[in-house]
Amino acid sequence: MNREEWAAGLYGRVRGCTNCALAATRTMAVPGEGPLNAEVMFIGEAPGANEDKQGRPFVGAAGQFLDELLAAAALSRETVYICNVLKCRPPGNRDPLPAEIDACRDYLDEQIDLVDPLVIVTLGRFSMAKFFPNQTISRIHGRHRETAGCFYVPMYHPAAALHQGGLREVMLNDFRQLPGLIERARTSRAPAQGGQNLAEAAVTHRAEPADAHAGPGADPAPSEQPAQIPLFDQAI
Ligand code: URA
Repeated sequence: MNREEWAAGLYGRVRGCTNCALAATRTMAVPGEGPLNAEVMFIGEAPGANEDKQGRPFVGAAGQFLDELLAAAALSRETVYICNVLKCRPPGNRDPLPAEIDACRDYLDEQIDLVDPLVIVTLGRFSMAKFFPNQTISRIHGRHRETAGCFYVPMYHPAAALHQGGLREVMLNDFRQLPGLIERARTSRAPAQGGQNLAEAAVTHRAEPADAHAGPGADPAPSEQPAQIPLFDQAI
């Protein structure tokens, strides 16, 4: 099975999914989109009203700002992969429930395996929690964590800047760091893959602990912040 066939199968399963109650209220599931060999994957929270109607991620107001942010990082929609933690819209755009995140988890994990990106950018606290459990977005936004195979970069959700204008410049600045990080991630992965085929060199991104959803109990900020978050303590 090649990547296109894999993606077609995965997207078909997502579109027909009945793993949780959101199947009953959605118009369309939103699997995600972008080149399957994209170097950068963006993971948002969940489809909103526009995404639910069109079956595509980030096509509303937050998506327009995401386009601006991508441009600040010298990226474009055509070159990146975009998906969400949840593939179906929570009614009224409420926060995803832990059970919904669990029900969708395998799809996202499979999607990450499929694209095997060099850089994963999380948008907002729900996707951040998958790779940075017990952290707060205001503390760690823009500060990446790296492994030999993948760089993980937590960013604010684009919708946050629509509500808090002050975050706009903060987010643009965070996104301006991406080209340098992408370059470093290329260098970092290259030696690990020398002479191996992609399957052998594949990175495992399944870092999350069982209770990885963000919530009010997230750790408070420590008094001192390292410039870069250290490597994962455990293999991911
Ligand atoms: N917000 C998200 O997190 N994802 C979308 O696809 C749209 C808005």
